[in-house]
Amino acid sequence: MDLVELDLKHIWHPCSQMHDYESFKPIVIKRAKGVYLYDKNDKAYIDIISSWWCNLFGHLNETINESIKEQLTKIEHVIFANFTHEGAINLAQNLASILPNGLTKFNFSDNGSSAVESALKMAFQYQAQTDNSQKTKFMCLEEGYHGETLGALSVGAMDLYAKIYKPILIKTIRIKAPNCYRCEFGKNRDNCACECFIYAESEFEKHAKHTAAIIIEPLLQGAAGMRIYPPLYLKKLREICDFYGVILIADEIATGFGRTGAMFACEKAGISPDIMVLSKGLTGGYMPMSVVATTQKIYDAFYAPYNEHKAFMHSHTYAGNPLGCAAALGVMKIFKEQNALKIANDTAKVLNELTLRAFSNHKFVGEVRSIGLINAIELVKDKDKKQSFDAKLRLGYEIYKVALKNGLLLRPLGDVLYFNPPLNITTDECEKAVEICKKSIEEVLK
Ligand SMILES: *Cc1c(COP(=O)(O)O)cnc(C)c1O
Repeated sequence: MDLVELDLKHIWHPCSQMHDYESFKPIVIKRAKGVYLYDKNDKAYIDIISSWWCNLFGHLNETINESIKEQLTKIEHVIFANFTHEGAINLAQNLASILPNGLTKFNFSDNGSSAVESALKMAFQYQAQTDNSQKTKFMCLEEGYHGETLGALSVGAMDLYAKIYKPILIKTIRIKAPNCYRCEFGKNRDNCACECFIYAESEFEKHAKHTAAIIIEPLLQGAAGMRIYPPLYLKKLREICDFYGVILIADEIATGFGRTGAMFACEKAGISPDIMVLSKGLTGGYMPMSVVATTQKIYDAFYAPYNEHKAFMHSHTYAGNPLGCAAALGVMKIFKEQNALKIANDTAKVLNELTLRAFSNHKFVGEVRSIGLINAIELVKDKDKKQSFDAKLRLGYEIYKVALKNGLLLRPLGDVLYFNPPLNITTDECEKAVEICKKSIEEVLK
């Protein structure tokens, strides 16, 4: 049997209707370098989505490879309770030096969703142990996405992933999210004063007394279709959380490590959350690892003699995995020694111009929006009415298939096409990607 047949015989792929694979077979990738993936026939694909937003500095990056190889001569993994190792310590020190003020304590997990679980539990327990045991609920933004485990799904609000599980999810308080492209207050991105924050205010007034924490994706609601909203919204959120004693959890799993042009999206609003969740870019897309970063204040609420039962009894087998830490230290090294953020921001200007030029006048493009190197192209049936195509057409999926044929890996979110490339993509590669994307749209929307 060939590899594809064997795959289909045994493998249940993530986030896929396996029925689709009957007519569109999985692509066997044999090797990769930089922004390129190569299949078994050596056909090249530009990985313009960083393999689900995690690949930060290209595939088979020399610096990260070296860091992992060196670690492999020392130790692959060790229990992290009562044991430690140099890689984790170095990484924690590095993170403390680049994160927004006050985030100096780090709890390790092994993927984004489990770190979100950890953050929620931490917030809940913090409130319980600081005489706020009435604060038991969570708030989140509509259209938010925080992962796929039951706790994470509960604070995510996207029916696509959560609907069937609703009977077994935690009840959460959902705040109507900013929707800048279709702003109901008739504002645009330049003249907005976050009028939509009134929805947050009214939910806080009603529910903050019983709310432990709110979790949000700062500046960019990724899975919702790369919905970008202004820093002012985060500033207001920080203020209202302080006023009501609600913990602010920033899920920077997708936005962290330079994706929005700043090292962390929260920086653009000049705020520090009480808890920040990191994964994806953390290891450059090499190893599954995540970190919950928090403050001394929250840490202290768990610190007591053993018999007071205040410890955070949360663990994952692979917490603090040395290979993951080595990959993350490789990432830190690249930021420090290769001027990576500045280069990414220079490229971002070029990519945004290219994207605007190629798509903004297209008759089916409602909006081109961007933050950092992330550029999203929202396709609509009617530009004036901002009316979407019928979801049954699966337009995004059709373009995905054609783009792959043309050598570009897009993975549209509904009818939103986007680029979220590695930070070290070259401008030539950007040009090529935009060109293939444009051609693929033309082929589908003739
Ligand atoms: C990807 C993502 C998650 C989930 O991370 P996994 O590692 O896939 O579990 C959570 N929140 C955000 C914002 C994400 O982008």
